[in-house]
Amino acid sequence: MVNISEDLYMITLPMPFRLKHVHVFALVHDNGVALFDTGVNTPEAFTKLEGALRSIGKDIHDIDRIFITHFHTDHCGIAGRIKDLSGAAIFMSETDARRIYDDQRGSLDINLVRGFYRQHGLSERFIDGLLRLLDFFKKATIPFRVDEYFEGHGTYHFGRKKFEIIPAPGHTSGQVCFYLPDERILLSGDHVLPHITPNLSPDPYNPDFRPLRCFLDSLQKVVMLPVVTAYPSHGEPILNLRARVEEIREHHRERTGLILSSVKWGQKTTFHVSLDIFGSELTEFDQFLAVNETYAHLVELEKEGLIRKKWEGEYLVYSAV
Ligand SMILES: [Zn+2]
Repeated sequence: MVNISEDLYMITLPMPFRLKHVHVFALVHDNGVALFDTGVNTPEAFTKLEGALRSIGKDIHDIDRIFITHFHTDHCGIAGRIKDLSGAAIFMSETDARRIYDDQRGSLDINLVRGFYRQHGLSERFIDGLLRLLDFFKKATIPFRVDEYFEGHGTYHFGRKKFEIIPAPGHTSGQVCFYLPDERILLSGDHVLPHITPNLSPDPYNPDFRPLRCFLDSLQKVVMLPVVTAYPSHGEPILNLRARVEEIREHHRERTGLILSSVKWGQKTTFHVSLDIFGSELTEFDQFLAVNETYAHLVELEKEGLIRKKWEGEYLVYSAV
């Protein structure tokens, strides 16, 4: 655990899959603790969180509020358990809360997801594997109800502390960052990461969601803040947020160029374009991420009028204009 500012602590919790760790943040206020994200639902993560709180004279029962950046299981997997133990109120965007509720009800429309990936060129066998994986992720989160939805750029006050909600859709359609203006600290969630760019995925419920456009707009939003240090959910603190954002923009500009060149060589599904860009030697999960990322770029190229899409039988194919 690291004390990153007065009364604000970064706690690094273990995670049993890629990246291996996730940071959560504890703001000690009055008699309680506000927690920003919770980590995954494993006994190891819970024990580590308990130990970290104990070292500052607090425990799980002192957590009175939980603020969640987005619905992925490494960010809110254990929120339900903490809420059961301490009665903490949970705050989240309404958009991402809806994903949590759908997962809890088991009402994720399988046919919707299947249809989407089928039309973009993935095989049935591949989609079956993907659905099993999505099922695993959704069961990993302990069910919970959200007490309050974030509204726009709301400000929350704790004694002498305050922080602002910065909506940052892109990685998910409802992701937020938290900005502490007095400390000039940004808790950037998965929005800005030091070494990787967050996966950009379509929202199966919202076919009009433009992940890349939203992500780039959200980058612009955080870069306008006078941030001194950004603390991401994974990896080390970002000391020059502007420079990191510029690297990420450049990365996406390059990728857009590569995808445009791929489409110039004949009609292709999203899957085929993703093979050109990312190769075919990926694990199934990485292939899925590659298709999502490629889709995010194709959507924007089409909006710009640089490529066109049409139906070829049951597939959507892209070609140069
Ligand atoms: Zn995430």
